[in-house]
Amino acid sequence: MPAPADSRDSLESFAVVARGVEKSFGSHKVLKGVDLRVEYGKVVCILGPSGSGKSTFLRCMNHLERIEAGFLRVGGQLVGYRQHAGKLYEMRHSEVARQRADIGMVFQSFNLFPHMTVLQNIIEAPIGVRGIPKRQAIEEAMTLLAKVGLTAKADAYPRTLSGGQQQRVAIARALAMRPKLMLFDEPTSALDPELVGEVLAVMKGLAAEGMTMVVVTHEMGFARDVGDSVVFMDGGVVVEQGTPSEFFNNPRTERARAFLGKVL
Ligand code: ADP
Ligand code: MG
Repeated sequence: MPAPADSRDSLESFAVVARGVEKSFGSHKVLKGVDLRVEYGKVVCILGPSGSGKSTFLRCMNHLERIEAGFLRVGGQLVGYRQHAGKLYEMRHSEVARQRADIGMVFQSFNLFPHMTVLQNIIEAPIGVRGIPKRQAIEEAMTLLAKVGLTAKADAYPRTLSGGQQQRVAIARALAMRPKLMLFDEPTSALDPELVGEVLAVMKGLAAEGMTMVVVTHEMGFARDVGDSVVFMDGGVVVEQGTPSEFFNNPRTERARAFLGKVL
């Protein structure tokens, strides 16, 4: 059971506040006390070796995993718990759904619905979850498709698109819910190298519009150019957090230096 909230962490300027977050799979402790703060309007890039707990941590933010200890707030609310008279209660399904609707997530593997067209993929949740009228949902979807450069693909099926196009649709689909926070888990790792740039360009555009983003990535150029801060995770903890120039030019820990030595 996570610890009750502390007033210092209730600050509304933070989209995410994590303190001492722990998560195990069986006897394997994967998150060993993760601390992180993400301010609204900022882009935080999470870097770190494979197996360090990056995906698990993102999944905890989005209710896909349940934390066992520590404190995790997204959008000012505890993830999965409601606080009342100093006690914690598990959220009802409807409350979880409401909290999740404000969080967009983009995965390495796109995860589009294969039996739906691009447009249908995008309008499904806004209509079904947000209750937006179909006409309006279509209008907004077309605006989003224009933004990701795929207006011509509205009626195409995902299998007919390149990986880069599918990932841009996945981003548009997440944005259609009007999220307050976007989580990206290695969004370009499954792409052929020549398709990486078009997805990063869309993400860069989003960042420029002020979207709050947490991006797990191996794209060091993106982290350096677009990140407001860089978080280095290793062994289930945040080892360093700083500005990109601090991190890349002057890593403070041996572990970060070793990691950068391999990836740069
Ligand atoms: P990263 O994204 O940094 O590569 P992950 O969060 O995916 O790391 O995984 C961290 C560790 O947790 C790995 O050792 C992985 O095998 C383990 N793990 C992740 N998800 C599960 C799961 N559902 N069941 C068991 N072990 C898992
Ligand atoms: Mg991962």
